[in-house]
Parts: sequence; structure tokens; C-alpha cells
Amino acid sequence: MVNVMPKMVSRNPIKRKREEKRLAKLQKEGRLVKGIEVPQSALPANPDAQNHGGGYSAKFYYQDIDFICAGCGKPGIWTSQQQKRYFEIQKGNIYNKPKWCHECHTKNKEAKRNAA
Ligand SMILES: [Zn+2]
Repeated sequence: MVNVMPKMVSRNPIKRKREEKRLAKLQKEGRLVKGIEVPQSALPANPDAQNHGGGYSAKFYYQDIDFICAGCGKPGIWTSQQQKRYFEIQKGNIYNKPKWCHECHTKNKEAKRNAA
């Protein structure tokens, strides 16, 4: 995901008023994270709970990510809910990307456990 800079607020007072109203509504709905607008299809994030080294890579929202499993080649989806749990509760590396499907992930874990 690419970090988005907050949009410039217009100098035109009418436009600015409209924009402020819109932003206040988003804020109320919890769809404004650190001044960043969360798209309709996305899940708002809590950057303060993420394990990022300063903020440049912080995530303001999550969207489902399609990926191909590196083990079996099956297509998978890393859902926004799973990402939220991974980044904010398990404090996962902010740069991590999905690589394994659930099945292969479980197999990998077992293989590691057996090797140890
Ligand atoms: Zn797999």
C-alpha cells in the first residue's frame, strides 16, 4: 500500500467549507485516520498500534490483498481483518506481505516444529 499525503484544503472558502463538512462527517464515521480518508471498501487502521519504525510506513487502512501462495501456487486473499489483527495485535512487521496460504502456513509451522 502506498502512503497517501493529506489532500490540500482549497483556498476557496465555499469549497473549503464543503470539504470541512465532508471531513467532519468522515471523522464521525471513523473513516478518517490521521487526516487520511479511508476508502469505502477499506477497513480503518490504528497506526499507533502498529509496529512501524517511525511512521513513514504506517498503514491508515487495510484492503484485501490477493496473492499467490509460494508453496502450492493457489490464489489466496489476505483479508483486511486478518491484516489488522496481524499488524495491530500480533505486532507483525509492517513490511510483511502475504506469501503462504493457510494450509502451507500450517505445514511450514509443523515442519519447523519437527525440525527443532
Ligand atoms: Zn499453499
